[in-house]
Amino acid sequence: MRHLKITATKNYKRGKYLYAILKLLAGDHVEGMNLLDVHKWRSNTYVVDKLWNQVKRYFYGMNMILIMPPRACELNKLENRCNKCFYYKEMARFMELVYRG
Ligand SMILES: [Zn+2]
Repeated sequence: MRHLKITATKNYKRGKYLYAILKLLAGDHVEGMNLLDVHKWRSNTYVVDKLWNQVKRYFYGMNMILIMPPRACELNKLENRCNKCFYYKEMARFMELVYRG
């Protein structure tokens, strides 16, 4: 949760948004929905899209590159994991789920 903390301090709304989405994904639907409603994001999806793009850049910029596996690990084959690319591919699988819905 270290990255989430950094996000929350650097950009209050981005952190709140990410936290709300994680709550929803974790199954805390009521809390997640309440958090999203605090800033009336349901009726202002333009703002949400901006935050989403920031979150996306943040994840790829900081997180993914730090644990980028070697080229030998075929990045598009998420099922084939060795101990070098395990963390990366676990994250990539999750991100894929988020993008494709
Ligand atoms: Zn590997």
